[in-house]
Amino acid sequence: MRLVAIGVLLGTVLGIGGCETNPYTGRSQLLMTSVEQENQMGAQAYSQVKSDPKMRPSQDPREVEPVKRVAARIIEAAKRSKYGEMAQQFQWEVTVIKDDKTLNAFALPGGKIAVYTGIFSVAKTEAGLAAVMGHEVVHALARHGAERMSQGQLTNAALQVAGAAAGASGGGGLMSQAAMAALGVGAQVGVLLPFSRKHESEADYIGILLAADAGYDPRESVGLWERMAQVSGGGGPAEFMSTHPGHETRIEQLKQWMPEAMAIYQTRQPVPAMALPSVP
Ligand SMILES: [Zn+2]
Repeated sequence: MRLVAIGVLLGTVLGIGGCETNPYTGRSQLLMTSVEQENQMGAQAYSQVKSDPKMRPSQDPREVEPVKRVAARIIEAAKRSKYGEMAQQFQWEVTVIKDDKTLNAFALPGGKIAVYTGIFSVAKTEAGLAAVMGHEVVHALARHGAERMSQGQLTNAALQVAGAAAGASGGGGLMSQAAMAALGVGAQVGVLLPFSRKHESEADYIGILLAADAGYDPRESVGLWERMAQVSGGGGPAEFMSTHPGHETRIEQLKQWMPEAMAIYQTRQPVPAMALPSVP
């Protein structure tokens, strides 16, 4: 605790961190980094993911178009949200990774989004995908990755790498897998690497508000997480099982928040729940 306190003090003195309050939930967050630093780390982690030869971007418009469509609407909703100022400043980028076996999607600080084609089988429709993307985008907007990094004391190493990469000399250092995972990459796990329960709940809650505001039926999120629990049940890695919010809790919470999301959805022009391409 004392180390943390000193960190906050230093961060405050240097103007690089401190406490923030989540504008939706009122939860206070400890952050050791500035938004600018986080965005730089997000960009570095993203370029590292994209430079991995195993991560081929999909060239198929049937896979790319729906993802871009949903992302554009979610991003517009984010710009109208309580995170509007940050969403305006993000350099949003969306990549569809051709990997039918990997059930994954993430959004990194700065608005760097990746969707693996494997998630189509669970998302089913563009409304299901909107639930996934709303959730992931909230992790980035609510600075969950930065918070997790601060807790894991990974901030300094990641900052050095990101700083070197951004420098004119080129740097060339690589961000560690741990730092990338903390930021939210989670690719090697193969299922949506969960944040802590409180982060997951926050992403679920604000995520359905964003999806509803984007014109997608927020009730689709219930089916989505039910299908997600089915495919990840049993064989998931230990971290996933131990930190994943209990499935029943998640569904129960979603139902509690649904009236608020539905009230928003009913004021919007609904977007049809178009089917996503099926993957083998
Ligand atoms: Zn999550």
